[in-house]
Amino acid sequence: MFLIPKQYSPDPDDSAFGPYVDPQISDRAKRLTLRVDPKNRRIKLVIPRYAREKDVKRFVERHQAWIAARLADLPRGVPFDHGRIIPIFGRERKIHIEPSQKRTTECVLSADSLLVHSARPDPSSNIRRWLIEQLRRKIEPLSHDKAAAIGKSINGITLRDTGTRWGSCTSNGKLSYSWRLVFCPDHVIDYLAAHEVAHLQHMDHSKAFWTLCDSLSDNMIGGREYLKLYGTELMRYGNAD
Ligand SMILES: [Zn+2]
Repeated sequence: MFLIPKQYSPDPDDSAFGPYVDPQISDRAKRLTLRVDPKNRRIKLVIPRYAREKDVKRFVERHQAWIAARLADLPRGVPFDHGRIIPIFGRERKIHIEPSQKRTTECVLSADSLLVHSARPDPSSNIRRWLIEQLRRKIEPLSHDKAAAIGKSINGITLRDTGTRWGSCTSNGKLSYSWRLVFCPDHVIDYLAAHEVAHLQHMDHSKAFWTLCDSLSDNMIGGREYLKLYGTELMRYGNAD
């Protein structure tokens, strides 16, 4: 049996498998598996509960080249630093951070820049909160309007940090969206809102679902295409490089 300390720390020096591999014991897994975790730029190693230590080590050794190649494939992050360019609502803006004496960080959006006045040496978490708020102001009324149009009501909307999903809808009417939709053009945000609201009626991806989604969207095909083409790219913003 292969034991991993309960309090496994992702600290690079602690990992027995190299700095980018996170081991995870599973009761259900039947075999060793490696999975790419693009959000954290790491590789997840799923280990069946009763795997033997030497088998696990050999498995990881055999896949070293694969692991290195997958990590190299992952796009670099774009942190919210001075001079970085991020697409806010689909339009590229340069982050301009200016020191300020005020206690609160202020963000001002213009056509081609995001001006940030802050007393903090690194206001990136303030920028992120501000971006989430901008998305909230847009996607909340949009979702409620679309739900009202089909006689449904929404039981709460959350904006999350999701690695792979752009949105979700539960059977009790709770919607959630990835906060990184703030980087998408309006028609994409509109499509995602239509998509999740359509799930209030159909909890599947049946033909009836897509017909309803289309009727609630400005540009359903365009929105789907955009996320297919640029989805991975958008996940880079706000991550360390
Ligand atoms: Zn769906």
